[in-house]
Amino acid sequence: VRRKYVVGNWKMNGLSGALAEAEAIFAGARAHEAVDVALCPPFTLIGPMAALGGATGGQDCHPQPSGAFTGSVSAPMLADAGAALVIVGHSERREGFAERDADVKAKAGAALTAGLSVILCVGEPLGVRESGGAIDYVLAQVQGSLPGDFDPARLAVAYEPIWAIGTGRVPTIEDVAAMHGAIRAALSDRIGEGAAAVRLLYGGSVNGDNAADLLGARDVDGALVGGASLTAAKFLPIVEAAA
Ligand code: 13P
Repeated sequence: VRRKYVVGNWKMNGLSGALAEAEAIFAGARAHEAVDVALCPPFTLIGPMAALGGATGGQDCHPQPSGAFTGSVSAPMLADAGAALVIVGHSERREGFAERDADVKAKAGAALTAGLSVILCVGEPLGVRESGGAIDYVLAQVQGSLPGDFDPARLAVAYEPIWAIGTGRVPTIEDVAAMHGAIRAALSDRIGEGAAAVRLLYGGSVNGDNAADLLGARDVDGALVGGASLTAAKFLPIVEAAA
């Protein structure tokens, strides 16, 4: 049975003063043993946040372990800094840094090789949703971005419709369940029974008010949270909703 998984993506937010919020989040999360909680801060906070004792992750990694890639951070470096996981393929990377499925696949593979768990993000733009093509679009991203071989317990897929990120708009529960069911079926076709161990997270405007409904949808095993993960006051109600 899949444990619930609630992950905060801090994006490009957080100076060292924000570690007090992380500490409060990790402390509050310990009260909910049935829920796995992780925070993904900017690179600069990974070491000190991991030292607080909670699961900490990166928001991206380079596909190569080392080399002449100015400004990049590799998966072994994340692990060395104390990270346990990494997000790959976020739409803000796909759109803002021209990452394609093949790049995301290489990053996911590098992360798994380095011993990290992976949260692989997929999600359609508004026009695709409105034209009725969301499921085909997302399944193509899943097929193109999944590493060739992986331990299903160390991979989560986050469905984040781009039009729901930071907008306050969320899909209907039926649409979320339909998408997650389609992703689960595609994983099943590809890896068989192991698909039952892959956690499927929903992301996009999750907050303390809508979390219980979203997390209650079929095949939703958790949430990837942006804005509402920056403070304990906003994030812990989402963890509670998952418990
Ligand atoms: P918001 O929760 O701020 O909409 O962000 C979602 C997201 O992009 C998490 O990765």
